[in-house]
Amino acid sequence: FADRDGYIWFNGELVPWRDANVHVLTHGLHYASSVFEGERVYDGEIFKLTEHSERLIKSAEILGFDIGLTVEEINKACLETVAANKIVDGYIRPIAWRGSEMMGVSAQQSKINFAVAAWVWPSYFDAETKMKGIRLKLSDWKRPSPETIPTQSKAAGLYMICTLSKHKAESEGYDDAVMLDYRGRVAEATGANIFFTKGGVLYTPTPDCFLDGITRRTVIDLARARGIEVVEKAIMPEEMADFEECFLTGTAAEVTPVGSIDKYTFTPGPICEQLITDYENCVRRRAAA
Ligand code: PMP
Repeated sequence: FADRDGYIWFNGELVPWRDANVHVLTHGLHYASSVFEGERVYDGEIFKLTEHSERLIKSAEILGFDIGLTVEEINKACLETVAANKIVDGYIRPIAWRGSEMMGVSAQQSKINFAVAAWVWPSYFDAETKMKGIRLKLSDWKRPSPETIPTQSKAAGLYMICTLSKHKAESEGYDDAVMLDYRGRVAEATGANIFFTKGGVLYTPTPDCFLDGITRRTVIDLARARGIEVVEKAIMPEEMADFEECFLTGTAAEVTPVGSIDKYTFTPGPICEQLITDYENCVRRRAAA
């Protein structure tokens, strides 16, 4: 990903893509003192930009550092990066991390760095391909308790569990993994939230130890606007036997129907289809049909 043309916003200016480098003694690299965002551009507009910038600031605050930029300044950096790279449909990755001024667990005086990269990334699948449903595997790794790690921060350190889970699932031929939480409840996929349906009602785990995704909240609003009842609750894995449809939500995943999670099978149906369409209309600011 490093060797390509383009521009990256790096500590206040746009630099050529290949020059956006950091030192090997960067604290963020050694101790995971790093927070980031994932955003999408649709038709030249960043979807829910301000919410993402606010979450980035909050993620850093939870880790005890201040990015030193306002929401408006972060928004502007994202918009300028998108414009410099002439992106119409793509993905944006803002990231803030502790620098290389101090080496050791404590790095109170280290400089906080901020960068934004953006690249072309059209939506991968058309609705028909999506409706086949992806295959997921339950991970052996559990989402940790909020008493163990600050689970409401979109912090790099929390992704170690996701990469371990996803690599294992991929090596066994699955598309992604679903993680249970420290109590054994269904939590989320490695980069997306999860929903189920039964009897026309939408069920999703209460986000008390993982991200309450921006897409998750958008989809809940879209479902309610359709008159679909949405229930947030603790969901045990055995309950998956009774669910009919299942889908993931996330900035990258958008609304992705799931065909199976281990032995539990689902049939992508009318609710998945409706929400894929409604989400697409929402992000592209088209009126819902
Ligand atoms: N959970 C995890 C672990 C994620 O990485 C993401 C993607 N940011 C989500 C959930 C969904 O969040 P959002 O809808 O805000 O992209």
